[in-house]
Amino acid sequence: MASPHDTNQIPRILVVDDDATFLLLTRKTMERAGFLVTTCSTGEEALEVFAEVQPDLILLDVNLPGIGGVEVCTELRKISDEMLLPILLVTAGGDESAVVRGYTAGATDFIAKPINWTHFAHRADHLVQTSRGLSELRFNRASLTTVQRIAKLGGYTFNPETNETRWSDELNSIFGLDSSYAKSVAEPFANLIHPDDRERVLAASEEALNANKSFTVDHRLLLPNGDVRHVRYCGEMLENRLGHQLVTCIVQDNTHHTRALEQIRYLANFDELTGLTNRRQFNSRLSETLNQAKLTKNLVAVLILDVDRFKVINDTLGRTAGDQILQVVADRINSLVRSSDCVGQPGIAGPTAEVARVGGDEFTLFLPRIVHPTDAGRVAQRILEAIPEPIEVDGQHVTLMASIGISIYPLDGQDSEDLLRQAGRAMSFTKTQGGNGFQYYTESLNQTSLRRLVLESKLREAVDHGRLHLVYQPKCDLRTGEVIGMEALLRWQEPTLGFIGPDEFIPLAEEIGCISKIGRWVLLEATRQNKEWQDRGLRPIPVAVNVSSRQFSDTDVLEVVKGVLEETGLAPEYLEIEITESAMLEDEDATTRALQMIRELGIRISLDDFGTGFSSLSYLRRLPLDTLKIDRAFVMDLPDDPDANCIVEAIIAMAHVLKLQVIAEGVETVEQRDFLRSINCDEMQGYLFSKPVSPEEFEAFIQVEPSS
Ligand code: C2E
Ligand code: CA
Ligand code: CA
Repeated sequence: MASPHDTNQIPRILVVDDDATFLLLTRKTMERAGFLVTTCSTGEEALEVFAEVQPDLILLDVNLPGIGGVEVCTELRKISDEMLLPILLVTAGGDESAVVRGYTAGATDFIAKPINWTHFAHRADHLVQTSRGLSELRFNRASLTTVQRIAKLGGYTFNPETNETRWSDELNSIFGLDSSYAKSVAEPFANLIHPDDRERVLAASEEALNANKSFTVDHRLLLPNGDVRHVRYCGEMLENRLGHQLVTCIVQDNTHHTRALEQIRYLANFDELTGLTNRRQFNSRLSETLNQAKLTKNLVAVLILDVDRFKVINDTLGRTAGDQILQVVADRINSLVRSSDCVGQPGIAGPTAEVARVGGDEFTLFLPRIVHPTDAGRVAQRILEAIPEPIEVDGQHVTLMASIGISIYPLDGQDSEDLLRQAGRAMSFTKTQGGNGFQYYTESLNQTSLRRLVLESKLREAVDHGRLHLVYQPKCDLRTGEVIGMEALLRWQEPTLGFIGPDEFIPLAEEIGCISKIGRWVLLEATRQNKEWQDRGLRPIPVAVNVSSRQFSDTDVLEVVKGVLEETGLAPEYLEIEITESAMLEDEDATTRALQMIRELGIRISLDDFGTGFSSLSYLRRLPLDTLKIDRAFVMDLPDDPDANCIVEAIIAMAHVLKLQVIAEGVETVEQRDFLRSINCDEMQGYLFSKPVSPEEFEAFIQVEPSS
């Protein structure tokens, strides 16, 4: 849009006449009146200079040589976009037809020669000012329209006396209405108000107008094409020039703004990926539900579900597939919980079950108004049954499992924070049990995890400060009864917690990653002790050290073993290592190779806890072994349990075929020992002969009797 002329600018007049005297007179008069004058003697010349001169007023003779004044006027109107530019046609008088043609051609007015110059100067000035004023007004109106368009603002007035509505074009364009829309219905605006909002909007506007006040209401429109828009609608009574009271209203389309706000609200409370509520919204709904439950005195269950081994899915299939899978999981949980008939007490109004995604693959849900804690377990079970349904992503079928922890209000906690924490503990416990299950929170779980936390930090401390020590349990030859070996067993006497058994802290050390450090120390200490005994002249026998499967995956056991032998100077035939079949699980080939090389050094290898793991014959064949240790679990049942007798007998026979020595551990009774001896077991270890003892006490077993 062009900006209007600067009103202070010197006015310019273009005078077109073939009469030189007329031109001279006009110039003199108009210059005196403050005009900038340009004269031309032909129409062609005028058309040529027009663009450059940009006149505010044109004085144009009708009778020109060449193209006549009327034609020039027509041309000027064509090339100038300024309709308001005054063009005065000068006639010689009495030329009626020229007047008619002139107006048709767009002339502003006529003036007849001879001209009264004094009057003309005033008239010219007036024409220029009026034209400039009109042009200014036009500019302002255009600006206003633009502003309204940008602001998506339209308006209408209504005259209650005449029932007449004046509807702005902006309203039509903002809402995409037909230009005939307002005339086609009796109450055009009321007709657009969304039916659900209509009563409220009309009541508010009527009340305000009756009290002669203005009103502002936010509401929705339902457009004829079915679109819903959000608007702000304001209005008041205004009196027009004729003294009529008019209802004047402004309507602003806020749809964009409102939708943005809705989006913000959504993002703040919902999980974008699954559409479930997020942690924030979940916590506040749970708190509300608990407040209500306090009054109604009913149970509320809180469940935390974590997909088992989801990281593997993400790592192997990629994030996008992972996201798709999570959406399916979310849908399954959500539809189950919403349709579950045991979720709430039927017939009682109140909060409904809520499901949220609170972390990558972690979901929380609560079940309000359950009747009995077992209801929560039933829901958990249904979810656990639904999750493993194969999910297809990128042409692959993925089967998932999950772990669920459950806490119950008011039994396990009073507020949402407590309940979520307890459910989380129960869930973690499920994971430690191998996942794919659910677990209720119990007080003991709490104790367990607390103790674990304490143990964890104390264990790191003990390792760093050398607070662990070894005890030794003798191994005897079953035929001669002679002590022919020993097993080094780790002990931890914690200053404040007391004695902590290896069955408790070894798995913990494996989990927190300090087993290799501990394992190296055990190897070093056991070999050092053995060498010291030999150096002091005690009877040399091998010491067996337990090596955790984690040590094989975390460190180079071969190097460690070589290192300690070198450091202590113990001969390799006096070292034996005990492994379990779980060592084979990580990387069988690598572990087998390492064991092979360890054995080539002259170190003996025993397979510990035989009978409890896979006990697979194929392992026995492939592994470089010297000894098989029959687990205490079987020995315990000897000799009264025929099944146990049978198994142990078979193990021994098989081991002998494979040229392996057999040792039975956990021998506590004479009957056990005698039975084992009767079925050709080679060695035994157990309380019957001796518990694990301190190094000082152990010396008694390896004293060399003075030869007589
Ligand atoms: P394990 O290697 O099977 O060790 C034998 C366990 O049986 C020892 O328990 C021993 O005290 C116990 N035991 C021996 N004879 C009898 C008996 O007649 N009756 C009964 N009831 N028990 C008997 P401990 O010392 O508590 O060790 C438990 C487990 O901790 C070991 O089982 C071993 O797996 C692990 N462990 C102990 N020390 C170490 C170590 O230095 N390194 C590694 N990686 N693990 C160790
Ligand atoms: Ca052992
Ligand atoms: Ca064992």
